[in-house]
Amino acid sequence: MFEKILIANRGEIALRIQRACRELGVKTVVVHSEADRDAMYVHLADESVCIGPPAARDSYLNMPALISAAEVTDAEAIHPGYGFLAENADFADRVEKSGFVFIGPSPASIRLMGDKVSAKHAMIEAGVPVVPGSPGALPDDPEEILRIGREVGYPVIIKASGGGGGRGMRVVYTEAALLNAVTMTRAEAGAAFNNPEVYMEKFLENPRHIEIQVLADGGRNSIWLGERDCSMQRRHQKVIEEAPAPGIARRLIERIGERCAEACRKIGYRSAGTFEFLFENDEFYFIEMNTRIQVEHTVTEMITGIDLVQQQIRIAAGEKFLLRQRDIQIRGHAIECRINAEDPFKFTPSPGRITNWHVPGGPGVRMDSHVFTDYVVPPNYDSMIAKLITYGDTREQAIARMEIALSEMVVEGIRTNIPLHRELMQDAHFRKGGTSIHFLEHKLAQRP
Ligand code: ADP
Repeated sequence: MFEKILIANRGEIALRIQRACRELGVKTVVVHSEADRDAMYVHLADESVCIGPPAARDSYLNMPALISAAEVTDAEAIHPGYGFLAENADFADRVEKSGFVFIGPSPASIRLMGDKVSAKHAMIEAGVPVVPGSPGALPDDPEEILRIGREVGYPVIIKASGGGGGRGMRVVYTEAALLNAVTMTRAEAGAAFNNPEVYMEKFLENPRHIEIQVLADGGRNSIWLGERDCSMQRRHQKVIEEAPAPGIARRLIERIGERCAEACRKIGYRSAGTFEFLFENDEFYFIEMNTRIQVEHTVTEMITGIDLVQQQIRIAAGEKFLLRQRDIQIRGHAIECRINAEDPFKFTPSPGRITNWHVPGGPGVRMDSHVFTDYVVPPNYDSMIAKLITYGDTREQAIARMEIALSEMVVEGIRTNIPLHRELMQDAHFRKGGTSIHFLEHKLAQRP
């Protein structure tokens, strides 16, 4: 096992990784920007290093500063968390070339899956079903693009090969709008992801977002740890996640789960990862793979009892990966509400000082958050300040516990989306389960 790990992230995930390290007896180095200097998790770490000013590009995205921080503290490995540099193959490369272990997959795997066109190719070869669409990146010839559009059938969605975080996508309903949409998405993708390549997919009208968690050792051993339903989204951003996915036949989940584990073996995947699918009419369609720990990993931990962050660290340390598929037992149901510092219905960010912070507790309640009373939410980063997770023997019990937990929670000084979550827990469609990825936007559009 490592002696010391550097955590190249901030907020709740920096604390989550720190907790995993402490349990493993590993010392931690936390890096922080000037804006995060006073965070509690920074003081809880064995060591901390300031890596620059608040702007992420000068701190959490600053590769030389991160590598230097690892050098001066004698850390052996770097955990990237999620977001920032977690899926940056060049960073993983630099980490390895500087003599540190990158806690994640190989740079080659990150590169393969980071490009959505190459990822889809790899999945087709591995026998994983994908969304029907263009055979690869769209060509320049407008006639050819129109022909592909007719073949795929409208509506279609134009997506950036290098896209991520719900950006770089455009839905097209008619042939007349196609060429313009391709041009615009290419321009945006060039500016945002430094890669103007786009591809086309059939736009599925009412799918659910279902994803499969995997763990793999880079060799012959790979397993899948059940599924998550992340259909509750706004602007392609997840708001609530749960596991298992309500109302899907186990044999369908098992079939796709086994395909994912097999795909890991085919591409030599190492570490934790997630295969994301759209699910419609009992069919799964691969959309992308995330080569990192995800925000919503918690719900899988609750129903499997397996600490995914610890597993990532153990695999990176080269420990023999001993988990087998038969060890994975799904028990009960878990739900996660992402608590954001924002107006609950207008969604404008609400940074600032939290004057009172009281967290819920009781059976089956888990709170992953770096926040405390008098904490100042910086305006520079993502608005998520906490993840509230509840667990129950049944989905009904998990929902009931979530309602109670949300009602106990107190956050003063800033606005949060807790009122939206309380409304959603009451919603008849959500309570029934199985709503599509468009449900939340439709519901919000109908609000007076
Ligand atoms: P990102 O990497 O930006 O998250 P994804 O490919 O994972 O991009 O897609 C994000 C979300 O966009 C999906 O969860 C879904 O809501 C929507 N989406 C993507 N592709 C399609 C499609 N072919 N049909 C319908 N919705 C889609």
